[in-house]
Amino acid sequence: MIEQGTVASPVEVAGTALRSGVRSRARLRPGRPDSGVVFVVDGIEVPATIAHVVDTTLATTLGGHGVRVVLVEHLLAATLAAGIDNLRVELDGDELPILDGGALHWLGALATAGRMAQPVLARWWSVSQPVRIETPAAFAMLEPAESLTLDVAVQFSHPQIGAQRWSGDPISRFGAELAWARTFGFHADAERFRAAGMVRGVSLDNTLVFDDVGVLNAGGQRAVDEVVRHKALDALGDLALLPGRPRVKMTASRGGHAVHHALLRAAEAVLVRG
Ligand SMILES: [Zn+2]
Repeated sequence: MIEQGTVASPVEVAGTALRSGVRSRARLRPGRPDSGVVFVVDGIEVPATIAHVVDTTLATTLGGHGVRVVLVEHLLAATLAAGIDNLRVELDGDELPILDGGALHWLGALATAGRMAQPVLARWWSVSQPVRIETPAAFAMLEPAESLTLDVAVQFSHPQIGAQRWSGDPISRFGAELAWARTFGFHADAERFRAAGMVRGVSLDNTLVFDDVGVLNAGGQRAVDEVVRHKALDALGDLALLPGRPRVKMTASRGGHAVHHALLRAAEAVLVRG
C-alpha cells in the first residue's frame, strides 16, 4: 500500500517574490489526509486545483475569495516528486519566492522537514481516453498509463536553444535532472515585462537570461538543454493541479502553462480517480 504523506515538521522558506520583488515567506506545515496542497493568504485557503487557476502569464497563479497566489508550480512539482500529498502553505503576501528559479530550494526544504506517512491510501488520477489540445503554436496530450511519464519538447530560434526534448519518469529523475533547471527568459522581452511591473524580482540569480546570441548569467547554462528541463519541471507542477498522483503519459510540444491548464480542464471530462 502506498500511503499518503505530509511534512513531518514545519519548515520556513523565504526569498524574493518574482513580480513585486519584495521579500516573501512561506511556512510549510503538515496537511490533513486527503486535503491536498492548500495555500493560505490572509487566513483565506486556496486549494491547489485547476478550478482555482486565475492567471497563466509567466507563472501559474491561483485565486479565490479575493486573494491570489502567484508562482505555485515549482513547489507543486517538488511536492509530487517528494511524495508529499498534503501540505498547508502559509504565505506572507501573495507570491511564493522565486528562490533559485527552479525547485532545488523547495526540494531541500521538504527534505529538511522530513516526510511523515499518513495511514490513508494515496489517491491517483488518470484519464479514460487520450485528451489533446492543439493550438497553431503548441500541442499537448494526456494518455492513460500505469505511472507518470513526460515527453516534453521545445523549439526556439535561438542559437543556444533550438530544438530540445526531455522524456522519462519525472518523479524518480526529478532531483538529478529537473529540479535545478532555472526559469528562463529573453532579454529582449525584459523591458516590456518590467514596464508592466511583472518581473521586479527577476535577476541573474534566479533566471536564465538569453540575449540575441548567448546567456547573460556568469557560468552559462547548467546543461545545454536546461530550457526543456525547466519546461518539464513546470509541466510536473501543473499536473499537481488535479487531485492525487498522476498516472498518465503527458506529451507537450512548445507548450506552457496556458496549454497545460487547457489540457487539465479537458482531462476533467474523462477523469478516472482511485
Ligand atoms: Zn517555471
